Amino acid sequence: MTVCYNKPEFVIDSNIARFINRYYGLNLNGEIRRKKEIISLAKIIFNFQHTGQLLFALLDFTALICKPVKPECSICMFVNYCKYKGLIRTI
Ligand code: SF4
Repeated sequence: MTVCYNKPEFVIDSNIARFINRYYGLNLNGEIRRKKEIISLAKIIFNFQHTGQLLFALLDFTALICKPVKPECSICMFVNYCKYKGLIRTI
């Protein structure tokens, strides 16, 4: 809906869920895409006029920076706001 028809829909895949989980310090485990905390925050994040562009930006960001293993926190624009623990933060 958001990509093809530019409808303001929220999207949650495993990558976006991981970013939300880390950024907000939720520390959720397992199948987090369907957890109510993730869904609520995704709705807030996707409360944006161009949700299709936001979606692709988040997919690129989570593929290149907020990766599943060894996220690139030292070059991440969100490092000063992100609540993810257990990382070396050099910025
Ligand atoms: S600081 Fe690290 S964990 Fe937080 S959003 Fe950036 S890459 Fe992801």
